[in-house]
Amino acid sequence: MATIVQSRRAAVEVVVSGVTKDFVRRGAPLAAVSDLDLAVAPGEFVSVIGPSGSGKSTILRLIAGLLEPDAGNIKVGGRSPGQARLEKTFGFVPQTPALLPWRTVAENITTLADVNPVAPRQFAERESIATLMTAVGLAGSADLLPAQLSGGMQQRVSLARAFALGAPVLLMDEPFAALDEITRCDMRYLLLDLWQESRPTVLFVTHSIPEAVIMADRVVVVSASGAQITTDECIRLPRPRSEDMEDSDTFLRHVQRIRSALRAGRPQ
Ligand code: ADP
Ligand code: MG
Repeated sequence: MATIVQSRRAAVEVVVSGVTKDFVRRGAPLAAVSDLDLAVAPGEFVSVIGPSGSGKSTILRLIAGLLEPDAGNIKVGGRSPGQARLEKTFGFVPQTPALLPWRTVAENITTLADVNPVAPRQFAERESIATLMTAVGLAGSADLLPAQLSGGMQQRVSLARAFALGAPVLLMDEPFAALDEITRCDMRYLLLDLWQESRPTVLFVTHSIPEAVIMADRVVVVSASGAQITTDECIRLPRPRSEDMEDSDTFLRHVQRIRSALRAGRPQ
């Protein structure tokens, strides 16, 4: 694949140390994240998997500086999440694409780069935006509005928008959950191609065990409450990943182990 983002920033480490976050529900405290330690190396791709309500989105929001921990410490490239956020360190890909309906595909992709106050020159040039749109299969759709796109196409725009920023850290919260299975498979390998090209640090939340395994360098399993890490498994598949690896013994063994870990962590 041709070089996509011309002036990208180096990937950075994300370190979560002893982080706790409680919410209050019906007057009682609810431990969304309890004493979490998690380190993600620069350029590493980590999948996070766990039951609904186990605190996965809360972890991403804490790292992104959208929530303050009650205890513990988070560093993103040595900086606080708030500072990292100001410096546009994060690309975020949510479950639903959240595109601006009045803006075209091309405008949606460049929206965040347009308004960046910190270092506009670090963001992708026009030419690389065109390359990026080609890479995600949107070359002929630059002037369409979101309402004219299928769900899969909208999620491609969301992916392209995250990569157009050249952000060193990508936080992805079940980005493919709303897609049909075939589209979802395509999107996995598209994301892997884009990631391979610019190698940001990735935290990828998913409910799909095969998806967690095929994408990641490491899969972290969190428990049903308090986001305690019950399993942290290195994925021993070479890169680049390909669909035929999904039939390999190594892949199937990883899937089996992670499935058992999820079952063991289920509330009784
Ligand atoms: P997951 O993403 O793993 O499904 P979340 O991180 O969204 O889980 O939520 C973890 C727990 O915290 C859930 O029980 C959820 O209801 C609760 N929670 C999340 N955000 C808030 C909030 N702003 N106020 C109160 N409770 C919350
Ligand atoms: Mg969630």
